[in-house]
Amino acid sequence: MSTLLVDPKESSGSTWPEDFIPLGPGESAREVALKKIRELSDSDHRDPFMVADLGVLVSRHRAFCQALPRVSPFYAVKCNNSPWVLRVLASLGIGFDCASQGELEQILGLGVAPSRIIYTHPCKPASYLQYAARHGVQLLTFDCEVELPKVAQHHPGARLVLRLWTDDSMSVYPLSAKFGARLEVCGHLLKSARDLGLAVVGVSFHVGSGCQNPQSFAQAIADCRRVFEMGRGVGHDMSLLDIGGGFPGVEGSEPEFEEMARVINAALAQDFPEGTGIKVIAEPGRFYAESVYIAAVNIMAKKAVLEPGGQRKLLYYLNEGHYGNFRVFLRDFVPRIPILVKEFCSKPPLFPCVLYGPTCDAFDKLFEEEVQLPELDVGDWLIFPSMGAYTLVMSSTFNGFPLTSIYYTMRPELRSLLETAP
Ligand SMILES: *Cc1c(COP(=O)(O)O)cnc(C)c1O
Repeated sequence: MSTLLVDPKESSGSTWPEDFIPLGPGESAREVALKKIRELSDSDHRDPFMVADLGVLVSRHRAFCQALPRVSPFYAVKCNNSPWVLRVLASLGIGFDCASQGELEQILGLGVAPSRIIYTHPCKPASYLQYAARHGVQLLTFDCEVELPKVAQHHPGARLVLRLWTDDSMSVYPLSAKFGARLEVCGHLLKSARDLGLAVVGVSFHVGSGCQNPQSFAQAIADCRRVFEMGRGVGHDMSLLDIGGGFPGVEGSEPEFEEMARVINAALAQDFPEGTGIKVIAEPGRFYAESVYIAAVNIMAKKAVLEPGGQRKLLYYLNEGHYGNFRVFLRDFVPRIPILVKEFCSKPPLFPCVLYGPTCDAFDKLFEEEVQLPELDVGDWLIFPSMGAYTLVMSSTFNGFPLTSIYYTMRPELRSLLETAP
């Protein structure tokens, strides 16, 4: 089997790698990883790696469209900007949510039409606004007064979307402390925009990434309706509702996506009924990317310490950690317990364990809390599923540990489909 390692930060978006690992019928990224681990079992090279099954993007897209038939997805690039992920998504015809000039360049560079892009960072440097104007990216969000004269000066033809504050205290990654206008100030912002000759065309919000409460969507959609009315009241032609991101990345997670979708569909039917000409979009990131990747890491050292009560505690030193792909772990409510690539008897004793990353910083560990695991040894592998969201994009080479290599896989049928896509 031929393989190719692709460093996503080095590969250009222009060609497919010759040597994607083809997936056999019924084969998954986990099986590819296990095969790789077996190949490495006699070797001294046990560097961490990831396997990405790009076909998962297609099934996630289907699930999204099926559950939310009125909503057009604009994928949030910040979640995972691997050129291969972006190319598959672009060939599916979806739109993109970009937050910086770099992300705009990356998406425009794939040949995506500027009309399929929304620039969602509410606070923009003047030079980025000029870039968006030059390249025909018209949809921009804003949430405060100082942004308006900037837009009027550097991108007067923009179609503005007012980002609302939402209650996101129930999400894993709240965003509303930093972004979003309160309902009380929206009337004033809408008037200020009008007085500067700017067009406000819609309203957006984000319930927070890893939203735990589907009702947050219903409340936010109801608020949007009030802002639509305020906007129309001062003469804006309001036509776009953007329900943001926050959808779960893993099938079967709590709350379930299907439940969230039911709440959203009902809220849309009530506040923005069909036939009123409103376009509804969303900005899912995690939903598409999270379950595409799995990560394999190896134990490079181990210490056993005795706790005051005589309990044995195990410290493992992994070759990937906080400064690599695992930075998000410290924000999770519940530690993500790895799959252990090792045979155990049916009920192995469990020990409190600390999983440290490879750098010289004591802060570099996967979880704040200890986790309970059976005893492992130097050279053993751990597999973490669902590692595609907010991982590679935040990974660094701190202390000289390189970025993790990634094996991209897909079924041969998908590859031929993508090769014939525009
Ligand atoms: C991060 C972000 C998203 C994506 O959020 P997910 O929870 O990954 O779906 C969408 N929109 C905006 C404005 C964001 O900042």
